[in-house]
Amino acid sequence: MFEKFKQDLGALDSFDFMIPQLVSSKLIIETLQASESRYRNLFEHIDQGVIYLDEAGVVMAVNQAAENIFGRSRNIIIGRKFLDNCFKAIQEDGSAFQEQQQPSVLALRTGNPVEGVVMGLFNVELQSYSWVVINAVPEFRVGEAKPFQILMTLTDITQQKLSEGKLSMASVIFNNIGESIFVTDKDKKIISVNEAFTLMTGFTQREVHGKNTHFLQAKKKDLKVDEALTEYGMGMNGWQGEVWRRHKNNKDFPSWTSVSEVKDSDGAVTHYVHVFMDITHFKKAQDHLGFLAYHDPLTKLPNRLLLKDRIDHSLQNAQREGSQAAVLFLDLDRFKGINDTYGHDIGDGLLMEVSKRIKNLVRKEDTFSRYAGDEFVVFMENIPDAKNPAKLAKKLIDTFDAPVYIKGHRLKISTSVGISLFPQDGRDTETLITNADAAMYRAKKKGRNNFQYYSPAMTHEAFQKMSMESALRQSIDQHELVLHYQPQVCLKTGKLVGVESLVRWMHPTRGLMSPQQFIPIAEEIGFIVALGEWVLQNACMQMRRWLDQGFLINKMVVNVSAVQFLRSDFVATVERILALSGLEPCYLELELAGGNFMDNSEQTIQALNQLVAAGIDLTIDDFGVGCFSFNNLKRIPVKKLKINSSFVVDVVNNAEDEDIARAVIALGHGLHLQVIAMGIESKDQQNRLSNLGCDEGQGYLYGYPVLPWSEVFQKMMKD
Ligand code: C2E
Ligand code: MG
Repeated sequence: MFEKFKQDLGALDSFDFMIPQLVSSKLIIETLQASESRYRNLFEHIDQGVIYLDEAGVVMAVNQAAENIFGRSRNIIIGRKFLDNCFKAIQEDGSAFQEQQQPSVLALRTGNPVEGVVMGLFNVELQSYSWVVINAVPEFRVGEAKPFQILMTLTDITQQKLSEGKLSMASVIFNNIGESIFVTDKDKKIISVNEAFTLMTGFTQREVHGKNTHFLQAKKKDLKVDEALTEYGMGMNGWQGEVWRRHKNNKDFPSWTSVSEVKDSDGAVTHYVHVFMDITHFKKAQDHLGFLAYHDPLTKLPNRLLLKDRIDHSLQNAQREGSQAAVLFLDLDRFKGINDTYGHDIGDGLLMEVSKRIKNLVRKEDTFSRYAGDEFVVFMENIPDAKNPAKLAKKLIDTFDAPVYIKGHRLKISTSVGISLFPQDGRDTETLITNADAAMYRAKKKGRNNFQYYSPAMTHEAFQKMSMESALRQSIDQHELVLHYQPQVCLKTGKLVGVESLVRWMHPTRGLMSPQQFIPIAEEIGFIVALGEWVLQNACMQMRRWLDQGFLINKMVVNVSAVQFLRSDFVATVERILALSGLEPCYLELELAGGNFMDNSEQTIQALNQLVAAGIDLTIDDFGVGCFSFNNLKRIPVKKLKINSSFVVDVVNNAEDEDIARAVIALGHGLHLQVIAMGIESKDQQNRLSNLGCDEGQGYLYGYPVLPWSEVFQKMMKD
């Protein structure tokens, strides 16, 4: 710095105004005046502060730049010691400058120049420090060893200091801030990351350096920042948004990200700065708040708001698809009494237990909500039958048969349920809930602990169905099931080839019921498995008896429903029953019901093959009705097709029915299968089917389904 000052002075022809060598006084005076003026000019206008101190360290001369640095005029500065001119002088580390460390003092004491001392001088005018680099050069008179004055230059480095300060502050912030920061070049390649970034993502600077910003985003979770920037633009304050980040350990996390551009003086982007924070906790809290808005805090069940939302939404679908739905309104009977007697704590405990029990009973697709106080609502969508909700209502009521224990108290509670149906009882949420509520009041009036449909006729039907179901479940134990047998004959010879077992139910009050009235219910409630086993066992035992009695009969034909057949233990059950009844498998023929018994799985095909391998014949019942795939005919080892009676009824008078019968017969024979026609009532039908090549027949013409000891039947078996 001092060198520069000397160079500046060197611009003068000579720096000789203090050396009186010239002899011509006029010339001397002129020269001195010119030199003095040049010096003054330079002294005043040079941008470095210049100060002359005498041998006692007292300021003798000060230039303008020095005045600026102190923030004081030279009148005040001159005549005082250097450091007396400022309120405070500090070193770079902020500590005060001691008198003896001062460059001019050192230079005076040692006689050596002191250079490059950085000092902060308090500027009175600016009320802040001016930072300077000071050089102090001692000057000597000829022949003297002690300096007679000190030339001090002060170079103002305040601006430089400030930017250094800012930089170091930025660096401190960059590495200590809690947010992750990474900087990319203009091509979005990462060039720098901070410590928080490594903590948050697990990636070090080295692992991400040169990688594209995409590298830090979780796959397929959301919009890429780049795409967002293209789509929405950077905006005045950069871009902000939620971005899913990837962690080195593969656990993605949501972040709130801000992206800013850094531009050069021409306005071209040189860098992008990405700042982000992990918002996992924030999102969790947000989710929790969202949950609280739509759920009951005690039971955690959907509240009234969410319930209505779900019903609204579901009704739109139901409307479009033409499906049915139901609202079940539950009110706990005499809950208020429990609350009053035992206190709210026990009441709350009871409500929680109640909701737990109910939750176990409703389907996943149903919405179960706490509607208010002791009122609960179950919304069932897509119900196949209007009587289905009654079943659930019954289960809900029954679940309170068992007492509830809360904090050692044994509480007995019951519930009343009201049911409204979409669309018949209301087409919108409000109406459905209001009507279910009204039905619930009716249930209360009827003595509580029961359910009512909004429409009384529906209640009646539902009760009937339910009582039928419970009676059916007891039919085996009550010995109410009966098997009738119907002959099957060879159409060519008229000889008996087999008998089909057909089940009936002797209902305690309704009398003999046909299988069409109860088999679908048995299938629905799963009772068909027990019923089917009962039929199979009784039919096999009957066959054994007939064979033992010497009757001429080839096959016992037993109907099997799809529900039974698709059970994995079906083959084992058949084998067990055959063994139990002592009947050889070759006497058994299974009629697989209609078109829907196949699920096409390998397991099903394998089971069918196992049965055939055991010597059991298989027939497809009601062929031509339902949706049996022809492809299955190739894959499963059936022996016979049974033409449905609906094609037989008009086989004589209706050409189309005749064509269908002909086609089925041709198809069967083409596949080397036998064909039997069901429902032959007249000779004409018999003859027509026989002419079409049908092998066997069954129908009232040969005999009604009758009890095994029927004489007509027994006679046929002897011939
Ligand atoms: P299916 O297997 O097609 O049985 C033939 C039905 O036609 C029987 O009705 C029989 O009484 C009736 N039928 C027989 N000959 C004639 C006739 O000449 N004219 C007319 N109009 N009908 C005739 P049923 O006994 O009421 O049985 C109805 C259905 O119930 C059966 O149809 C069968 O699918 C089912 N079923 C009967 N018993 C059982 C059983 O033990 N298990 C299973 N899973 N289903 C059974
Ligand atoms: Mg049948």
